[in-house]
Amino acid sequence: YAKQCGRDTVRRFSKELNVALLQKIELIKDLRQAITNKEFYLVYQPIVNRKGVVTKFEALIRWQHPEKGLIAPDQFIRFAEESGQIVQIGAWVIEEAKYALQKIRQAYGRDIQISVNVSPIQLSNHQGNTCDFLSSLLTTFCEPEQGKNGLVVEITEHLLMNLDESTRSALLGFREKGIQVALDDFGTGYSSLAYIMNYDIDYLKIDKTFVQKLDDESSSISLCEAIISMAHKLNMSVIAEGVETEEQLDLLIEYGCDYLQGYYFSKPILLGEALTYCQDKQLKDMNAF
Ligand code: C2E
Ligand code: MG
Ligand code: MG
Ligand code: MG
Repeated sequence: YAKQCGRDTVRRFSKELNVALLQKIELIKDLRQAITNKEFYLVYQPIVNRKGVVTKFEALIRWQHPEKGLIAPDQFIRFAEESGQIVQIGAWVIEEAKYALQKIRQAYGRDIQISVNVSPIQLSNHQGNTCDFLSSLLTTFCEPEQGKNGLVVEITEHLLMNLDESTRSALLGFREKGIQVALDDFGTGYSSLAYIMNYDIDYLKIDKTFVQKLDDESSSISLCEAIISMAHKLNMSVIAEGVETEEQLDLLIEYGCDYLQGYYFSKPILLGEALTYCQDKQLKDMNAF
């Protein structure tokens, strides 16, 4: 009986595995044409300061697949990473973000920033040289007319643990070039404080899973409070992501959180909408404060 049962399980398992594998192979194949066919676009989610003023936009990628419709990054980024296509996609994201930053600054002023997610694969390098991606970032965003501090690079906590020496020193050099670094999804990895202190990190982004438990879990309250006060002691600012309710907002403000991002303020929106969102928001703020 056990044998029979085991065989069925294996058969069912391998069937599911095959379906997943085929879907993955198909997506990786489709990714090849996606850039040339202009199937990617970026959406932008406002990040506001404690007064509700927009200070940054996070750029988030979307894939409009010709047959499958809109595909979210969680559904394809890991495949693009596995196949190496993330390098090319990431370069496209940077070009697009540069264009967006120019438009956003025209609409809103020089202080506004754009925040871009960067995958570990984009930062890994094989020859012991600074990887091409970092060099291109520096040339793209450090032209004099771009001004300083236009770009925030978001890397995940998990990535920090696995950096090689040259990438590490390149990241450390960002700050003097005027590029800031944010540690994304903070709280979900296992990096120690001592470790984070070795890097010149400008922002900690509290992962949305903690923000969303703020309403009903006291452990989450303590955690957010602790992250914020610790970050401040280490001269870092805190961005809370996934803020959806007024309750969450009030608690985060009370604990001294510096920046807020989430559906409470706005979903990620198209560039055109982002440009007018800024203006609406500025007018509202002028009336409110
Ligand atoms: P992330 O960088 O942590 O981005 C935040 C995610 O939370 C985004 O999902 C955003 O739409 C979502 N979000 C924001 N506010 C709220 C809220 O109030 N409630 C809820 N439920 N969700 C909220 P999205 O756009 O699906 O992106 C998912 C992840 O994909 C990102 O997480 C990031 O890790 C990755 N990603 C997105 N764009 C890029 C890219 O251009 N390059 C790379 N390498 N990764 C990207
Ligand atoms: Mg992010
Ligand atoms: Mg995040
Ligand atoms: Mg995330």
